Amino acid sequence: MRRSGASMAKATLTIKQVLNYQTNHAAWFAANQALFNQVAAFYFEVIAAHEKVLDLSNKEALTALEMLTHTTKKNPAPVIPLADIVKDIPAMFRRAAINAALGSARSFYSHLSQWRKRKEMALAKGKKWTLRPPTPPRSWNKSATLYAGQWKERTGSSIVLKVWTGTCWSWIKVRITGRELPDDVEMGSPSLTQRGNQWWLHTPIEKQFANPGKIEKQVTTNAETRICAVDLNLNEQLAVCTIQTVEGTILATTFIGGGRAISGFRKHLLGRIARNRRKTGMIAEGEQDNADLWRKINNGDEHIAHLVSARIVRFAKMHGASILVFEHLGNLQPEKGKYSRRGNTKRAFWMKGRIFNFAKYKAWNRGIITSRVNPRNTSRECYRCHGLIVRYAEGQPVSGYTPGTPLCLCPECQMRGNSDRNASLVIGSRLIERYAEPSKEKPHALARRAEGVEKSTGVALSQDAKREEKPSISQARQGDGNAHGTAPGARRRMGTPPPSIPTQLRLFTE
Ligand SMILES: [Zn+2]
Repeated sequence: MRRSGASMAKATLTIKQVLNYQTNHAAWFAANQALFNQVAAFYFEVIAAHEKVLDLSNKEALTALEMLTHTTKKNPAPVIPLADIVKDIPAMFRRAAINAALGSARSFYSHLSQWRKRKEMALAKGKKWTLRPPTPPRSWNKSATLYAGQWKERTGSSIVLKVWTGTCWSWIKVRITGRELPDDVEMGSPSLTQRGNQWWLHTPIEKQFANPGKIEKQVTTNAETRICAVDLNLNEQLAVCTIQTVEGTILATTFIGGGRAISGFRKHLLGRIARNRRKTGMIAEGEQDNADLWRKINNGDEHIAHLVSARIVRFAKMHGASILVFEHLGNLQPEKGKYSRRGNTKRAFWMKGRIFNFAKYKAWNRGIITSRVNPRNTSRECYRCHGLIVRYAEGQPVSGYTPGTPLCLCPECQMRGNSDRNASLVIGSRLIERYAEPSKEKPHALARRAEGVEKSTGVALSQDAKREEKPSISQARQGDGNAHGTAPGARRRMGTPPPSIPTQLRLFTE
């Protein structure tokens, strides 16, 4: 294992393939899944009654749970026999269900213990504690995982599956269509997954790729290394991405829009929630009234975060970037105004966190490493000379700093352009500067910047003395629509349904 460990990295992907089957088989797949969930729910209960099982490794826990439930010659009288609930469960079906239950139980109990800790801390500080504890899954709707033994004879175009038909176990052959499995991968256990009326085969695969190497090494040893820097916003342009090389050449820019559409969608739903609350009386913050509306908002945000992060990574890959860089999100500034407005800003901020998390994971799967830099003044500084920029809107006087406006000018080096693009370039150069040798940082950075200027505008600079001064920047980045706040992870829930959102939100402008 050590042999390839140093230069190879791994990523897990899911290959989704449509199944072609006789119409009556759909009912069998459904019966098979219902049985799988019945068995998984049974094991969740067994684990709940024997919480100590969770201290064991998955393998040991599996053995312990089988001892508690499975009747054999050696184990003739288990404490909670599975056979009392269902009979004739194939061993591999049972084991897949046990592992599904273990996964859910581990997640639930770790949420529960976090909740207990936080409650204890809050009460110790004399604070009020109103957050409800996490709830165990009420209904089970997991896809059945097919361990070896539950399937055979898999080819590029067909597979033979052992399924519960509702009355017996039966082997059936189904045709597979869609994307084929790549050759050079390690395949995990497939699962039978329903989406709408269609059944799919989902197969996790582990892909090996050349390790992209540490950021420091990439930046310090290769001036051609390409960096994709991303400025995330709360306005129409949700993300502005730029590609630059370590030596400073700017190669491409893209604007990923859609901010107004998602904001309008959210605002509309938040307004409905506010009206419902006025009708029914105010309910404490954090309570899940209007559950359907909340779910819609959550799904909408998640959907957009997936689309935006996918586009960021596609853009980075298309331009050969091997590093993706964002700024740290900082804290959400409390905002005044109506409930729907405050709620909207908070969720837009959370969505930025999701975009970062999704992009990080998607980038890794494509061999790109993600980093973050200090957000201080990224929208106020000039990417070329670090001077303070003037920010304004079309038709406005070119002076002062109006937060959130689209145009910028650097009075020091005459750089003119789009404010968000400038911020994105600042983010990228900040990462490069982190690894610049301290003794050489200034001359290097200056040379790099001067070169960049000539390339893009043809204006030669002779103000080195001026630029030696460090700009005295004291204003924090604020009020430019980039409010800051808590991480989104805190409000993720178990078993969040897949996103569904009206198609108008898919509209993006390049
Ligand atoms: Zn400048």
